Amino acid sequence: MKIRRVLYFFLEVFVKVLVVNAGSSSLKFTMFNMSDQSVLCKGLVERIGLKSPRFIYQRCGEAPTEEVLSIVNHNGAMQAVCYKLIDPEQGVLKNLTEVEAIGHRVVHGGERFTKAVKIDKTVKDGIRQCAALAPLHNPPNLEGIEACEGFFPGVPGVAVFDTAFHQSMQPEAYLYALPRNLYNKLSIRKYGFHGTSHKYVYYEGCRFLGLDPETARVLVCHLGNGSSITAVKGGKVLDTSMGMTPLMGLVMGTRCGVLDAGVVLHLIKNGYTVDEVDVILNKKSGLQGVSGVSSDMRDIEAARLKGNTDAQEAFDLFVHRLLVYIGGYHLLLGGAEAILFTGGIGENSVLSRQAIVSALEAYGCELDEEANQKRQINCVISKPGSKLVAAIIPTNEELMIAQEAMELI
Ligand code: ADP
Repeated sequence: MKIRRVLYFFLEVFVKVLVVNAGSSSLKFTMFNMSDQSVLCKGLVERIGLKSPRFIYQRCGEAPTEEVLSIVNHNGAMQAVCYKLIDPEQGVLKNLTEVEAIGHRVVHGGERFTKAVKIDKTVKDGIRQCAALAPLHNPPNLEGIEACEGFFPGVPGVAVFDTAFHQSMQPEAYLYALPRNLYNKLSIRKYGFHGTSHKYVYYEGCRFLGLDPETARVLVCHLGNGSSITAVKGGKVLDTSMGMTPLMGLVMGTRCGVLDAGVVLHLIKNGYTVDEVDVILNKKSGLQGVSGVSSDMRDIEAARLKGNTDAQEAFDLFVHRLLVYIGGYHLLLGGAEAILFTGGIGENSVLSRQAIVSALEAYGCELDEEANQKRQINCVISKPGSKLVAAIIPTNEELMIAQEAMELI
């Protein structure tokens, strides 16, 4: 084991790992130098296949550049990325063969993928089969994988699944109280999402706070446009708030989260089509729907400070819903030792953290108002001596994917 670690250390010195996140109309990438886990360059191709696709690229320490290119699919996007990586002026590689591994974000791994895997034909078939559960995400993820296979022949690809970390949940957490044949035949159950972020923040939070990750009892709150909370004990997920789809759980930017399934039936019986209900629940609800102001927490905060009562209610609902989950998960954990905040809201919203942590006094958590002013850095925001420690831990899904890819090659 020790020899392996030493070897791994020396190997790392030479390892450049590319992380690719291919969405329906975008492709994000980050190139890591794993010797010191630094970012060499990163970028984004957006509006793929639409009018005026844009390629935004940034080499470490330099200002981002932006170009409009005609890119019709993920293969074209990956080609543009490859040209840029070896561009004599702006690139970070002499040759594409310098890339040692490629880590791909894949949204849904179903029950089949419980951890990151090296990509081969069987894995690609598996990702294709899981597309039934994530029809908008898995197909473009696969296109990104296949584009990379063309441009980086022989370079190992690793699939890192958003759902994998949550596969440690037990049936009492992941089953819905529906007829069992729906689970058996249609795989209807809770899967959970944001798993790569929850995993990264759990281990980074344990390291930062000096907790043993083999035994720690931690609440991870990933609060962004999409939000979820996970109860993690000893590296295993006891429960998570998203469900079979990312619509479930907390109040999000435009998603409703927890909802009486009867509401869906009621809407349909009142003449709304399935597609209309889909749009209402996924795109017109959450902070946006309740406030009528915006899906963006900064706008909600500004409006409520100006006395907008709908924005105030949206904010209160966001906090209330989260507190209900915190209470339940605290009990499941047998008392959490730490609550960690991450994501755009978790890392930046002083007011949201203040409202949430101030309500945790019963659990022995006292807010340190001054520390809570911090943003986007690892930072304890509860007072010394708090039984439940609250902290900000910025997420880094790309680094987690690069690390998982490294571990597999
Ligand atoms: P996504 O889920 O799309 O990755 P992010 O994690 O980037 O989203 O989070 C976006 C959310 O973070 C938005 O609601 C935004 O308002 C919020 N946010 C970002 N910066 C701040 C800030 N300074 N104060 C309050 N909220 C913020």
